[in-house]
Amino acid sequence: MKNAIALVALDTPLQEALDYSIPAELNESIEFGTLVEVPLRGRKCSGWVIGFKEKSQFKGVKAIAKVLSSEPALTEEVYKLAEWVARYYVTPLPKVLKTIIPSSLRKITKPKLISFVQKAVSKEELRDLAASLRGKSKAKTAVLDVLLLAGKEILLSELLEKAGTAKATVDALEKMGCLKVIKLPMDRSPLKDEEFFKTKPKVLNGEQLQALNNITQDIDAAKFTVHLLHGITGSGKTEIYMQAIEKVLERGGGVLVLVPEISLTAQAIDRFKSRFSEQIAILHHRLSDGERFDAWHNLKKGKSKIALGARSAVFAPVKNLKLIIVDEEHEPSYKQTDEMPCYHARDVAVLRGSFEKVPVILGSATPSLESYYNASLGKYSLSTLSVRAGKSSLPEVTVIDMRKEYERAKGYTIFSEILLSKIRERKEKGEQTILFLNRRGFHTSCMCQSCGAFVKCKSCDQAMTYHKKELSLNCHLCGFSLSPPPTSCPSCGRPSEMKFKGVGTEQVERALKALFPDIRTLRIDADTTRHKGSHEKLFKEFATHKADVLIGTQMVAKGLHFPLVTLVGVLNCDQTLQFPDFKAQETTFQLITQVSGRAGRSFHRGEVILQSCLVDHPILKLAQTQDFKAFYQEEIAIREMFSFPPLRSMAKVRLSGTDDRKTEEMLNRYRDLLLALLPKEYTVMPVAPSGHLKVKDRYYYQFFLLGPQLNAFRESVKKLKEMLEIPTGYRLHLDINPYSTYF
Ligand code: ADP
Ligand code: ZN
Repeated sequence: MKNAIALVALDTPLQEALDYSIPAELNESIEFGTLVEVPLRGRKCSGWVIGFKEKSQFKGVKAIAKVLSSEPALTEEVYKLAEWVARYYVTPLPKVLKTIIPSSLRKITKPKLISFVQKAVSKEELRDLAASLRGKSKAKTAVLDVLLLAGKEILLSELLEKAGTAKATVDALEKMGCLKVIKLPMDRSPLKDEEFFKTKPKVLNGEQLQALNNITQDIDAAKFTVHLLHGITGSGKTEIYMQAIEKVLERGGGVLVLVPEISLTAQAIDRFKSRFSEQIAILHHRLSDGERFDAWHNLKKGKSKIALGARSAVFAPVKNLKLIIVDEEHEPSYKQTDEMPCYHARDVAVLRGSFEKVPVILGSATPSLESYYNASLGKYSLSTLSVRAGKSSLPEVTVIDMRKEYERAKGYTIFSEILLSKIRERKEKGEQTILFLNRRGFHTSCMCQSCGAFVKCKSCDQAMTYHKKELSLNCHLCGFSLSPPPTSCPSCGRPSEMKFKGVGTEQVERALKALFPDIRTLRIDADTTRHKGSHEKLFKEFATHKADVLIGTQMVAKGLHFPLVTLVGVLNCDQTLQFPDFKAQETTFQLITQVSGRAGRSFHRGEVILQSCLVDHPILKLAQTQDFKAFYQEEIAIREMFSFPPLRSMAKVRLSGTDDRKTEEMLNRYRDLLLALLPKEYTVMPVAPSGHLKVKDRYYYQFFLLGPQLNAFRESVKKLKEMLEIPTGYRLHLDINPYSTYF
């Protein structure tokens, strides 16, 4: 008999965990982390068992009504993490638990069963029976012959196929008592039917070995240390991750590996799979409910030792965790921004490492400012990989002044002359090119020639993008589409000539084909990858040289390894650079470094052409030399000047509502009250419209605050909840350490 009382964290935001008694008949099935149904003020409510007591200090404790999940999904470690996330990111715990625990684990899931056939009698008897049936029933003898050759059991479907008969034959034989059909759970792991060639560990170079040794020491000492692994693209960081994983597996432990969402679809996974095939559980958003259920429980039971996934995988219940790896730790996709909790998976990973006393590796070619800052303060241990592993070297970067190109072309041109000649040269040599542009569509905007207004979405504060293939103007914020595009101005109403402006990836592809009719192109952006699997398909096509040029948005910038790519063209990075956001310079430097890193990863030296009108911009100069340290010095000095992160912490408070003026007023009231509660060291900026004032018919206002650490802010937010009731219809969004000051 376990304890009589369970502490249940309820699925309603306003409630602390409550005591419930455990009925005797449920005693067996209730453990830490079980999802249960309990009565709450006459209603049914679900909640998680998060503790036990012998008795409750309260009178009239109600009983748990029933068990809702077939196996507990929550572990004590993960629950502890959830509590921290709730506090740190000022989000109610139930909302955090919703984020952490996939919906497939919130219901009773029966494992998927598959039919197998077993012998019910000895082989001799079976053989005799087969002999007696031969000539009388062809179907039955065929089944028995297959069964005689099979091992312990055979898949029913396989048996039927081999025997060339139908289920009725098997049923008849089962009735005769010579075989039986049983149902066994099938492992739904998506790896099951793939074949991988196992790769061997590489012999590490000096820098790699040093980094690995440092990490291994901490694994053995079960010591929490953050290892910032700063290695240029292609320097062999992934190889270090894999060898560190190997060490953990040798010691019987488990590993958590986080990768950016984008590389989950591509080659990175294959490399891990080829080395560790059956030990790995992959968590990505395209898993079916059953697959997710299996992956989660396999990790929890220690059947899978390695959890590999994007952002939310940081909460995966890895058994006997000994190491955490965050690849490309600077990647913005680790930060959840559109919904609370606005957690950063890298930061949660670091915290998890400290809770579970294990080392954490943060790897990147362009570490985030905050991580490098922590390393400079000595909080993180820094390992640097300064040369490319294997035989390749870093590409040469040339910046082309596009103003001169426009002069020469007597107008706008997408490609500089030098870039075109280099693309042609690559094609002739049988090498490949990647062209990067951060905008999709054909034209990025459509403008009225008489009044100068852009055609905007009716529900959003956003210029609409022209897509030529669909002959439509689309809003990239809400998906609204106008087809065909208007022939008179929606703003001034005059039937004027509408002018299309701005270049997107769709136009780049067409323009290139017009110039080189025999060039084979592929395009990878949000438009060409809508269907499940299209991503992988396009990448595979490029990898097998089905195209000479790959054109794409961020999707092509990161983590890919194509040995034949020797030229990368960045068509225009001016917009990213001038984006009104405190991270714009950092983002641009990272992006250029990452995309450049795709060139010359094999035998041939790579080349990068950077087209820009801002050739004197310091960031472009730094990107040209790919000097991360110089970039860091420059950028951290700016952050120091303004006391911006990482020197101080930042929070964003955003309010949205359906009425423009009232939303602004409400947020101003909130800000005034907050200001009165906060200590003086806080800097609170004024309320301003968000980067997009209107999205899907809602108006967004925001303000920022900076402080030493944000504890006083968290306390004040709690108090404010009681002081100011925000009416229904408004949504308050709090973001701790926001990634963007724009939206
Ligand atoms: P990164 O993750 O830093 O971009 P990778 O681990 O992908 O670098 O390594 C780049 C290439 O170099 C890969 O093809 C990898 O197999 C190879 N490589 C890595 N380490 C070594 C080594 N010690 N010796 C030879 N080749 C290596
Ligand atoms: Zn819209």
